Amino acid sequence: MSNVEPHPTEQRVCEADRSGPEPDTELLEPREVPLGGPRAMLVHRALPGRNRRMVGAWCFADVYGPADVSTGPGMQVPPHPHIGLQTVSWLVQGTVHHLDGLGSDQLVRPGQLNLMTAGNGIAHSERTPEQAPDLLQGAQLWVALPEHDREGPAHFEHHADLPGFSLPGAGVTVIMGELHGHRSPARTHTPLVGAEIVIEAGRTVTIPVQAAFEHGLLPLDAPVHAHGHRVVPGSLLYLGTGRDTVQFHAEERTHLLLIGGEPFTEDLVMWWNFVGRDHDDIVRARADWEDQREGDDRDSGLRFEPVRADHGTALPAPDLPNARLRPRPRHRDA
Ligand code: MN
Repeated sequence: MSNVEPHPTEQRVCEADRSGPEPDTELLEPREVPLGGPRAMLVHRALPGRNRRMVGAWCFADVYGPADVSTGPGMQVPPHPHIGLQTVSWLVQGTVHHLDGLGSDQLVRPGQLNLMTAGNGIAHSERTPEQAPDLLQGAQLWVALPEHDREGPAHFEHHADLPGFSLPGAGVTVIMGELHGHRSPARTHTPLVGAEIVIEAGRTVTIPVQAAFEHGLLPLDAPVHAHGHRVVPGSLLYLGTGRDTVQFHAEERTHLLLIGGEPFTEDLVMWWNFVGRDHDDIVRARADWEDQREGDDRDSGLRFEPVRADHGTALPAPDLPNARLRPRPRHRDA
């Protein structure tokens, strides 16, 4: 997944100043963003929100579909770079083909995890393959890397066999971190959790969680009711720290993502597909990508190794804004 907005901006805050403690629950409404091309897929982007930029280290949340990809190009995201983050690709329906500069070549299918750790830099592409089911539905989430790991080596991993457990009325798959004693083998860099829950119609489910974590709920198919809110697909319900359980009720059967983690205390600059700490981090990453995209044909030693197996044209970086990018905290009141 790539942020392909032509003029990505900082998440500027335009509401009047508020005061007081951070809210304990907060419903984040998504923005609708076209993802590449004239017949682009629409994605619902709940993170970063205008006020709430993160849930634990989770800093970006796109959900999409179900979309019929049988009559159009589907998802077509050409090679593009990332720094300072992990991309978590998760499908409910369909397939996506991942290629990257490490030589990874991996289809992701429903119930499987594609996890790419960008570290100091990696390029990848994500496309609907020629032979694919008609419907595509899923999510892409980004996890910010902490200071001590953010310039580490790039890495890709695929997990087809993730741990899970059942509760009355629901099945749970642990995608990242640990939940209810079940731990995912996926690489993590801060204390966090990511899980998929399939809850049956009319059921109420209670899941034990870590009180030191803040959490977010993202229904994918149908609304859920949780902690005093009705949450529709595409929206994210934020739940603050200090609770031992998360409880929700499904109107209809639905897939639901639960994300969470220890509040991330480092201020970040997020611009385009980069997560850095200051303006200069972003300027350097953009320049490295543009230099390379415009014909640096060294065989190795590049910050963003080319995605040699993808024959499409790499995405150009957007222009930088005129103003310096400023680091932002995880919440505007933090
Ligand atoms: Mn991407």
